[in-house]
Amino acid sequence: MNIKNNINNIRQQIPSTCKLIAVSKTHPVEKIQEAYDAGQRVFGENKVQELTPKYEALSKDIEWHMIGHMQSNKVKYIASFIHLIHSIDSISLLQEINKQALRVNRTISCLLQIHIAEEETKFGFSDNEVVDLLHSELLLKLNNVRIVGLMGMATFTENKEQIRKEFRGLKQLFDKLKSAKLPANAIMQELSMGMSSDYQIAIEEGSSMVRVGSAIFGERIYQ
Ligand SMILES: *Cc1c(COP(=O)(O)O)cnc(C)c1O
Repeated sequence: MNIKNNINNIRQQIPSTCKLIAVSKTHPVEKIQEAYDAGQRVFGENKVQELTPKYEALSKDIEWHMIGHMQSNKVKYIASFIHLIHSIDSISLLQEINKQALRVNRTISCLLQIHIAEEETKFGFSDNEVVDLLHSELLLKLNNVRIVGLMGMATFTENKEQIRKEFRGLKQLFDKLKSAKLPANAIMQELSMGMSSDYQIAIEEGSSMVRVGSAIFGERIYQ
């Protein structure tokens, strides 16, 4: 795996308006450093216990994104430095993020994860739930979180048309919310969709952030 070539190759395929998040989960700091040396500054991790030591070890100009399902009791470990949390799937998580952000005197940007896949195992809100959340009284009180958009993961399938349909549906929800009247701490700016196997489709369907792991770092080995 030539990480530098992979990054350059992917960069050529995505528009400059789309942000490339290099998903470095399971890969050691040496590999992340290689990507960093190739100019990559934005990295995504899905586990707090893996993210914090990597944050400690690597350059402080890296922008760290949390992309995996989070337990509320872990928020405190990343509140001081996390750039964006993509995986908000409950109101209670948002409340805890607000509490921890307040403690470190920050405003933390978040994406609401929408369940667009067929698999039950994937996390996220339904369309109706997200509309309710964005209009809830509760959100108005969360002054230290800022909702900046939506995130979704398509079904794990070879069927490109199904993937496209799911991304298109998410983009439609995004556009609908973008033109709705939302509270001051919710702005629809970012649409995080697309991974190694489907980022081209996601870009065609309007993604503004792709989360690419194995196409940069190679296959993951879970121990
Ligand atoms: C692991 C992961 C990715 C990257 O997956 P690849 O198929 O390796 O590109 C993207 N998004 C989320 C939420 C992930 O957990």
